[in-house]
Amino acid sequence: MARVFNFSAGPAVLPEEVLRQAQADMLDYQGCGMSVMEMSHRSAAFANIIETAEADIRDLMSIPDDYHVLFLQGGATQQFAAIPMNLMRNKKADYIVSGSWSKKAAKEAKLYGDVNVVASSEDENFSYVPDVDGLAFDADADYVYICQNETIYGTRYPKLPAVGNVPLVSDVSSMFLSEPVNVSDYGIIYGGVQKNVGPAGVVIVIVREDLVREDVIPTTPTIMRYLTQVDAKSLSNTPPCWGIYICGLVFKWLKGLGGLDAMKAMNEEKAALLYDFLDSSRLFKGTARKDCRSLMNVPFITGDADLDAKFIAECKNHGIENIKGHRSVGGMRASIYNAMPKAGVQALVDFMAQFEKENA
Ligand SMILES: *Cc1c(COP(=O)(O)O)cnc(C)c1O
Repeated sequence: MARVFNFSAGPAVLPEEVLRQAQADMLDYQGCGMSVMEMSHRSAAFANIIETAEADIRDLMSIPDDYHVLFLQGGATQQFAAIPMNLMRNKKADYIVSGSWSKKAAKEAKLYGDVNVVASSEDENFSYVPDVDGLAFDADADYVYICQNETIYGTRYPKLPAVGNVPLVSDVSSMFLSEPVNVSDYGIIYGGVQKNVGPAGVVIVIVREDLVREDVIPTTPTIMRYLTQVDAKSLSNTPPCWGIYICGLVFKWLKGLGGLDAMKAMNEEKAALLYDFLDSSRLFKGTARKDCRSLMNVPFITGDADLDAKFIAECKNHGIENIKGHRSVGGMRASIYNAMPKAGVQALVDFMAQFEKENA
């Protein structure tokens, strides 16, 4: 068995320890005589899995009691609709557009109300996060929306916008559990788990109590109402049982490593390794502006598309996979999520240095 260093943006690398635990549990989960994939979502064994997962993520993120934690399906993309449907009472929201994901979310929200794009960085191909100081938010807006880490362009908010009493809604899909956050700063903080937390098929929505209400847009499907899922504890219908189980194992793994403070230190160390190389390289250069670089997704280019293609092809011979950039940016992108070991980043930097010598 040869595991590669998988730099995929998502679905992405998972901790080897978690995969081994899942393997050990595969045929017989803790003496049940069946796999987690085969058991009723109403069974005592599964109740324990989802309740433990919730307790562990609450612990990891220090989630206050007045927030609900929902384990849902439909991905982050379904939340692009669920958020306006559940929150748009005044039928207006402010969006900051800092990349493809927030742009998509804003477009979807327009189906349900007035969307005011208060700032955008599209003028420079989303290579930076708009300055949030001095932005004028509508005090009557139902919420202010951001995507805190833009997976494709490799940018992350250096600081959160000051939104006053308007709830801040943040898509943290590609930075979920990579560093501590102050949950109280948000009305909703949510993300698809297949970037940094688990397998595809689960989206975790952490929503403040007062935003879970009956007076949603009337055509909101029952299953997409937060109240439905809060009342049912995410079990309104069959949840993504297997995915929730794997997320639970990842939460235990994170706690074992020392939680999110420890994770942040490790992520900063890995990111610095790659960014320091990029900043001193004669061949490669990062595409995101320095003051808003992501710790998780690192896009870079040589400036020559043929050379980029050659580099990507040769990476395979060094156990480096999924390094090709998103089609809208080109070049390369290294996603260095929690589960990417430092040795993987080191292997990438070593090969970049070798390639530079041979090609610069
Ligand atoms: C991948 C991604 C999405 C889309 O997630 P799906 O689960 O495919 O719907 C949304 N937002 C961000 C920031 C992402 O990285």
